[in-house]
Amino acid sequence: QSQELSQVQIDYHAALQALVEDGTRMVCTGRMHTDRICRFESLCYSTEAEEFVYFHSNSSVMLPNLGSRRFQPALLDLSSVEDHNTQYFNFVELPATALKFMPKPVFVPDVALITNRFNPDNLMHVFHDDLLPIYYTMQQFSDLDLEARLFFMEGWSEGVHFDLYKLLSNKQPLLREQLKTLGRLLCFTKSYVGLSKITTWYQYGFVQPQGPKANILVSGNEIRQFTKFMMEKLNVSLEESPSEEYIVVFSRTINRLILNEAELILALAQEFQMKTITVSLEEHSFSDIVRLLSNASMLVSMHGAQLVMSLFLPRGATVVELFPYAINPEHYTPYKTLATLPGMDLQYIAWQNTDQEDTVTYPDRPWDQGGIAHLDKTEQERIIKSTEVPRHLCCRNPEWLFRAYQDTKVNIPSLIHVIRQTVKSKPGPKKQKWSGSIYPGKVRDAKCQASVQGTSEAKLAVSWQIPWNLKYLKVREVKYEVWIQEQGENTYMPYILSHQNHTFSENIKPFTIYLVWIRCIFNKNLLGPFADVLLCST
Ligand code: UDP
Repeated sequence: QSQELSQVQIDYHAALQALVEDGTRMVCTGRMHTDRICRFESLCYSTEAEEFVYFHSNSSVMLPNLGSRRFQPALLDLSSVEDHNTQYFNFVELPATALKFMPKPVFVPDVALITNRFNPDNLMHVFHDDLLPIYYTMQQFSDLDLEARLFFMEGWSEGVHFDLYKLLSNKQPLLREQLKTLGRLLCFTKSYVGLSKITTWYQYGFVQPQGPKANILVSGNEIRQFTKFMMEKLNVSLEESPSEEYIVVFSRTINRLILNEAELILALAQEFQMKTITVSLEEHSFSDIVRLLSNASMLVSMHGAQLVMSLFLPRGATVVELFPYAINPEHYTPYKTLATLPGMDLQYIAWQNTDQEDTVTYPDRPWDQGGIAHLDKTEQERIIKSTEVPRHLCCRNPEWLFRAYQDTKVNIPSLIHVIRQTVKSKPGPKKQKWSGSIYPGKVRDAKCQASVQGTSEAKLAVSWQIPWNLKYLKVREVKYEVWIQEQGENTYMPYILSHQNHTFSENIKPFTIYLVWIRCIFNKNLLGPFADVLLCST
């Protein structure tokens, strides 16, 4: 016992000495605050000031060294939501000599990932903003392994989905409030600050109306690697051959209700000749819902955060999203975007209630549940008469909230009709082979030979070899695209060819230099890179 204590003492003195002598060291990736993640040694946090502290000494490092640009607007985003002004990270600076006058530091021995959760009470935000980005940030840095500890600095309490965050590492995540109980000055031995945005697919409409991100960088493969990890942690095993096919209706029980749920379930069961079950976050455990979804053929649900759980559906399953009256499905597409990510292999169908008779509104509820009684009469009347919520910014548009929190009596024939346009026979998980796509490499050994006939005619014979990777692949269709460009011209003539050589004679002039660009195409849409340009003189 005393041996251990003295060991800790020695470590403590060594750590303190290192901090005083070496100060803080920071090296970051990313060129902008929106794509930056920083690795620190000896980053400290004052729980009294509620500020991070950087200590300068002879050995301290600060890269990037931005000077006061560090505050324009911040060093980095602590959450995965881009450039949100409540999510900025920075630190204050002190000379390491100031430590003499400060509270005794308490050292955090675990490798830390310091970040903000964006909205831990909403399941879409939990998965999209936090769990996936944390998982892939940890994949990016090898010392962020299962022994790393998560620090959530946004200041919220655990929230209803805290158990999900706990799955990401073996150590209990710590919240900002809890840091106070550890000490007045905490020093993280090794830490990473920030979160990768590489997996996010949606922007919530803070600066322009919501929609898919402009440059989505994630595919179904990475989503499914993450869900596989989560399912292992949740002890949900993937059934290899599901015994029975079934449909899941994911219902909400507090608001945005389906008023004729029993009728809907019967109709789905009858139409598709499948067992149909309901689940809700209120009545089922998270693991049970994951277990049920992971073998389901179809998921039917009102628009809402619970639909993010379609990331647990098997390949080939169908997602049916129901939208209340006056809400244009095209304007709210977080779940459509997810379902249609390349390689997610889900079928997505949106249905909207277009019949005012089938909607129930709640004008007298509080504003955050869609009430509009606080608005002036003319505005209330305009909203009630309107047949579509115009595009708007996040997050408090009263017309949007009013319509979003309607209950809906689903018109069954209309819904079945819409589903049947996409799902012709039985819906269901298809046992699919790996559907990732492989792109061709460059064509090799491209050559050209010119021949001139008289003063006005010429020919260009071009040949090349198959891309190197093709000999190891089974590809349904291999084509080549060749562009012939006269040197100095902006335009070119494109050709799609099946063979590895071709003699061009159309529009080929004698005594001219041509640039020839060649690339390989697999299966019509997998375009490879162009080989080095070929210079051909006739
Ligand atoms: N929620 C739920 N049942 C309900 C209403 C909400 O499980 O009847 C959950 C919902 O899935 C989300 C959270 O409560 O995780 C917040 O719901 P809200 O309506 O605010 O957000 P939205 O679903 O529109 O994103």
